[in-house]
Amino acid sequence: MTSAVDTIAAIASAPGAAGVGVLRVSGPAVPAIARHLLGRDPQPRHAHFAVFRDALGELIDQGLLLYFPAPASYTGEHVLELQGHGSTVLLDGLLRRVCQLGARLARPGEFTERAFLNGKMDLTQAEAVADLIAARSQAGARAALHSMEGMFSRKVDALLQALIALRVHIEAAIDFPEEEIDFLADPAITRQLDALRERLADLLREAQRGVRLNDGLRVAIIGRPNAGKSSLLNALAGSERAIVTDIAGTTRDVLRESLSLDGVALELADTAGLRETDDPVEREGVRRAHGELARADVALLVTDTQHAEHDLALLSDLPASVERLVLINKIDLAHTHSRYETRADAIWVWASAKTGEGLDALRDYLKQLAGAGSGEGAFSARRRHVLALEQVAVHLDSAADVLLATRAGELAAEELRQAQHALGEITGTYSSDDLLGAIFSSFCIGK
Ligand code: GDP
Ligand code: ZN
Repeated sequence: MTSAVDTIAAIASAPGAAGVGVLRVSGPAVPAIARHLLGRDPQPRHAHFAVFRDALGELIDQGLLLYFPAPASYTGEHVLELQGHGSTVLLDGLLRRVCQLGARLARPGEFTERAFLNGKMDLTQAEAVADLIAARSQAGARAALHSMEGMFSRKVDALLQALIALRVHIEAAIDFPEEEIDFLADPAITRQLDALRERLADLLREAQRGVRLNDGLRVAIIGRPNAGKSSLLNALAGSERAIVTDIAGTTRDVLRESLSLDGVALELADTAGLRETDDPVEREGVRRAHGELARADVALLVTDTQHAEHDLALLSDLPASVERLVLINKIDLAHTHSRYETRADAIWVWASAKTGEGLDALRDYLKQLAGAGSGEGAFSARRRHVLALEQVAVHLDSAADVLLATRAGELAAEELRQAQHALGEITGTYSSDDLLGAIFSSFCIGK
């Protein structure tokens, strides 16, 4: 790995007036810059009081100077942290001064990118830093902290080691052609591979939950016009965000609402009524509703006792990964009571968006899907990680097929090699410049 040779600087605190503002500098010029600003050599990891002056000796600000020598720093390089007053004008002046002394402006995420390149953290940990800053719920923040601390990475690495061990085993067999067939027929190999696939399936489920904790559970509310979709969204969100009327077809666009239910995040989308229509505006709404469904974690069908059987068709041909929920709404009109049933095709809930009866059961189920209560073992993940784990699963399945059908060691070993590569992409053992660019450019400046 190459280590960067120049020195970068950025304002690390949020813009706007605040009690304290922080400037961060990283790179080889840091000791010299610190000496200039302080008038003497700084003591490592010591809070120095400093008066910051410009090139002409004019006062910029006064505050604290902290010096972290390499490699015991966030980036692994020499790092300087300057704390001044939280004023954009003062911090800009200080930043200009630091750049005169040999630093340049940092790109978004460049400090964390350097931490990754210097081996201070792997890629999932670096991504978790950004996810922690952007966390929208307590559960999401806690999960991101776990990933940042390495909980996800360690599981990926453990799987990687097991995979490599199996690959070595199989490749050893290939080197002895006269015994290869017997060797590969050994049930121990199949057992090892099966165990690996089981562990992978577990990790995939945990990573999927990690994505939900990170991004929020995406719930697409669907149903015929007037079923009560907007009323349900309002009831869950506790506001009058969506327009509720008696005229069928009112909700033409997709309305979105983010809400936090007891510390977990939900992303609700109220879609247009899914019905065939000639009105071009409404037709566009229906098209968007279908798009929304394809991206959702949960399809929540709102219907009533009268229409349930017919409306169930709206839940057909959804990907298997989409959870299905059926809400039999308007029980206040049907004179029935709220209840909750787990059926083969979906979870069914009887409730009233109007009176609120039965909605607690719905809330509890959504919270559970969103990862509430997953506690200490839960880590955050990104869609990219889930896609990589799915790739690993495909290759392990192929490896098992090949072994079982043909005992072809070469082919099985090749599948394992590809599985290993996909797994390595998660933590960044294998990473392209494009991937790194995409990940770090979405960070904020100063992190
Ligand atoms: P949408 O078209 O599916 O979004 O349906 P709306 O939420 O706009 O509701 C259509 C009509 O049904 C409105 O008059 C609501 O007040 C009414 N409504 C919705 N939910 C209930 C319910 O649980 N009970 C009763 N009695 N009326 C409801
Ligand atoms: Zn509506």
